[in-house]
Amino acid sequence: MKRFAYFEGKFVPIEEAKVNIQTNSFHYGTAVFEGIRAYWNEEKKQLFVLFVKEHYERMLVNCKILNLKVNKSVEELTQITVELLKKCQHREDVYIRPIAYFSDLKISPKLIGYKTEIAIYTVPLGDYLDLSRGLKAKTSSWHRINDTMIPARCKVAGAYVNSAFAKTEALLNGYDEAIMLNPDGTVAEGSGENVFIVKKGKLITTPPSSNILEGITRSAVITLAKEELGVEVEERPILRSELYAADEVFYTGTAAQVAPVVQVDHVIIGNGEIGRITKALQEVYFKAVKGEKEKYLNWLTPVY
Ligand code: PMP
Repeated sequence: MKRFAYFEGKFVPIEEAKVNIQTNSFHYGTAVFEGIRAYWNEEKKQLFVLFVKEHYERMLVNCKILNLKVNKSVEELTQITVELLKKCQHREDVYIRPIAYFSDLKISPKLIGYKTEIAIYTVPLGDYLDLSRGLKAKTSSWHRINDTMIPARCKVAGAYVNSAFAKTEALLNGYDEAIMLNPDGTVAEGSGENVFIVKKGKLITTPPSSNILEGITRSAVITLAKEELGVEVEERPILRSELYAADEVFYTGTAAQVAPVVQVDHVIIGNGEIGRITKALQEVYFKAVKGEKEKYLNWLTPVY
């Protein structure tokens, strides 16, 4: 497979998509990125990009907040992405990583006076978290960044230092993933995932005011819960102890998909098995994203 990237306005072989070490955003983390998936449907021999419009809409809003001037529309970015996927001839599940950054070779952490570039590359990606079993999550001693520091709603490169601390702490302590709390003790999110709990048949997830990235998978799962399972969904702050007391816990994210959690810290969730609602949501999610559910074909953009 020959890999390409979109870099400095054109498609180049991935090896040629290189930035200078003096690049401003490399030093200050002042870049905005996205994580998009494309799913390969073996039966139809088709590749579908999932929620491409929603991802680029979020990215452009975040770029506006960081004063990154992309000068491309959602439609243009979608077209470039589809063309890139075609060039790479993927016939497997793929992760797409667009990143907008300040390309000037200048020192000073600021968001004005610099030129913006956008780069996009793709990489084959199966399951990001192990979905063959329930995961062990650790509430992190690292608090989630607050909106007054770095807005969690923005996928800002520098903000992922916060995620990296939490994820590393979880891994070094024998867990699979982190759950970060806010300074007031309420749940925020995982290192790269939103968090849901199920209690007495109801789905509960944290609101944007809990310092979360407003996940696109999160909103897809809310839709599926309501429309396919007839499950009630509540968005409200969640306490740490509610995780322990929950019947089910799971993560959602583009990379993570729908990932069941069966242990949080020292506490086994429910009976320690993957929960019934989690399992049902996972199944319907995979059908929808792979183009096997007519009703949700509008989530997908076919590449070929
Ligand atoms: N929170 C964080 C911190 C993330 O990095 C991600 C992954 N983009 C998510 C939540 C989930 O968002 P989405 O479903 O849009 O991928």
